[in-house]
Amino acid sequence: MLKTARRLRRTAHDTESIRRCKNCGAYWYYHLHEVAGHTDDCDRCLWCAPLTEEQAARALDRAKPERELAFLPTLAGCLQDGDGIRRLKCKPLL
Ligand SMILES: [Zn+2]
Repeated sequence: MLKTARRLRRTAHDTESIRRCKNCGAYWYYHLHEVAGHTDDCDRCLWCAPLTEEQAARALDRAKPERELAFLPTLAGCLQDGDGIRRLKCKPLL
């Protein structure tokens, strides 16, 4: 299970946050894109990218300006959608 450590963005269709694993304490960059009321495969995509301790510290530093978070979309991670789960070198457009 992942627990929200910092909420970055929340809209009707997107939830973007820094989350932490309750078991091992690892940090993740998490972006869920969801459009309710549709059955099409592309309407729910989850992007998760693991963060190093240093990256997590930067992402959790609320005193820093947004540019400190600019590295998050360039991290390698996993995309889960209607086609399954796959690894990607950087964040796709959700
Ligand atoms: Zn874990």
